[in-house]
Amino acid sequence: MPQKLYSLPSLSYEYGALAPVMSEEQLKIHHDKHHAAYVIGANAILEKLDKVHKGEIEIDIKAELKALSFNIGGHVLHSLFWENLAPAGQGGGGEPSGKLADKIKEDFGDFNRFKDEFNKTGISVEGSGWAALAYCRLTDRLLLMQIEKHSVNLYPNFNILMVVDAFEHAYYIDYKNDRAKFFASIWDIINWEKVSERLG
Ligand code: FE
Repeated sequence: MPQKLYSLPSLSYEYGALAPVMSEEQLKIHHDKHHAAYVIGANAILEKLDKVHKGEIEIDIKAELKALSFNIGGHVLHSLFWENLAPAGQGGGGEPSGKLADKIKEDFGDFNRFKDEFNKTGISVEGSGWAALAYCRLTDRLLLMQIEKHSVNLYPNFNILMVVDAFEHAYYIDYKNDRAKFFASIWDIINWEKVSERLG
C-alpha cells in the first residue's frame, strides 16, 4: 500500500474574501504558490525517505531532515493560519469570548495588552517566521511563541491556538515592507471561534 503524503488544504473562503486586510492577489500567491511549495517539498523528502528505507538510495540524512522540518513546519503552520482567519464581519475580527477571553485576561491582563505583545512578537521576528499563541498544559498558561523560519524556537507538543505569518511573502504585495502595518491590520480577520475551539 502506498504511504500517505501531505496535501494542500483548500480555503473555506474565497481568495478575495479577506480584502482589504489581505488582497486576493496576496492570498492567492501565498496559498497556491508558497504554501503549495512546502507541501511539494515535504512530499519529495518523504518519497526519498521511502527509498532509503528500501535500501534503494542513500541521502545526507542531516540535511534532508532539516529540510523536512522546514517544509512540514511550513505546511502545518500555513494550514493553521488559513483556519484561524475569516472574512471581517463574517467570523473575522472583534474580540474573543468565553473561556479564551477569560484566559487572555488572566494571563495577559487584558485583550489590548495581549494584542500588543503578539504584534511585538511578530514584528520582531528576525528574518522570516511566525508569531503564535500557544497553550501550555504543564502550567495552564497561554504563551507567546516566536517561531523563526517554520520550526525554530517551537515549544514541543504545545497546543498552537493561533498563528500569524511574518514572512515577507505574507504581506509584501499589500504592505510592501511594513510588517507592523500588516500585524496591526490582521486583527480584523482573526477567527476567534476557531482559536477558542483549539483551546478546547
Ligand atoms: Fe507564508
